[in-house]
Amino acid sequence: MAIHIETPALASRAYSLRSGKDVRFKMEALQPSGSFKARGIGHACQIYKSRGARRFISSSGGNAGYAVAYAGRMLATPVIVVVPATTSERARSLIRSEGAEVIVHGASWMEANARALELMTAADAFLHPFDDPLLWDGHATMIDELARQGGRPDLVICSVGGGGLLCGVVEGLRRNGWADVPVIAAETAGADSYAQALRAGAPVLLPEITSIATSLGARQVCGRALELAQEHPIESVVVSDAAAVAACEDVLLEHRILVEPACGVSVAALDSDSEFLRNARSVAVILCGGVGVTAAQLAQWRAQFAAQPL
Ligand SMILES: *Cc1c(COP(=O)(O)O)cnc(C)c1O
Repeated sequence: MAIHIETPALASRAYSLRSGKDVRFKMEALQPSGSFKARGIGHACQIYKSRGARRFISSSGGNAGYAVAYAGRMLATPVIVVVPATTSERARSLIRSEGAEVIVHGASWMEANARALELMTAADAFLHPFDDPLLWDGHATMIDELARQGGRPDLVICSVGGGGLLCGVVEGLRRNGWADVPVIAAETAGADSYAQALRAGAPVLLPEITSIATSLGARQVCGRALELAQEHPIESVVVSDAAAVAACEDVLLEHRILVEPACGVSVAALDSDSEFLRNARSVAVILCGGVGVTAAQLAQWRAQFAAQPL
């Protein structure tokens, strides 16, 4: 039995009218853990458990750590999430609400991650937030579902942080006979580690993340995501934080669903000047979700970006 749930592919009348294309949202925001991460992490946890793991360890205070906590509860397996002091009280309590133990250690993720690795014993499995083929295999199930839910899109749009979602989407397209369906890989300026790596033709380590889209805040993408750009039609699109926030507001208005800017960025990409987009009649947007947002936080971002052009 899968840890994730099957999500609807919602035909969006509002976005179809405004873009002149058939726009479908794959509603990953509806996963019980609030994001698509339930798929890959749920799958990886199941496999690790079948191989004998008796505890899961994560160092993500974001959607990945929350997904590990959720998967642990589903699989009746203890979870430890080590987070830095900067992790919000809300994120900590969400993770605890799934029955996981939260250990606060260090000032940055690097220190928390080092502590998490120190805790590892032979009975533990470490869950990486994006760089694990088991995760990609699990994420790919969203495309398996899409194939049953109304057929082949001309284009898929997804967000890129560390690139795990992108790897899963491409794997899903391939295994459903859609290896020719192009993908727009969307990021915010200030978290654009994929765009920069594509330009350089090699992995790029961003000196810092300056975007508010913290779920996209991997300073370096996984090697596989870069490789895939040689094997699959992938176009990188970078939008501003302001545009990502505006898209979150639009999605809330049109569909009454609250998502992170890390997800809004993929919706904002519908307005980009992209060759793939011009050639597409039907578009599937992965509405990847995220629990790192509240109505109050969205209002605060709106005020922060009110004066800025999109
Ligand atoms: C993790 C995450 C991303 C980025 O996924 P990667 O696999 O790191 O590229 C985007 N949006 C949300 C809401 C996420 O949780």
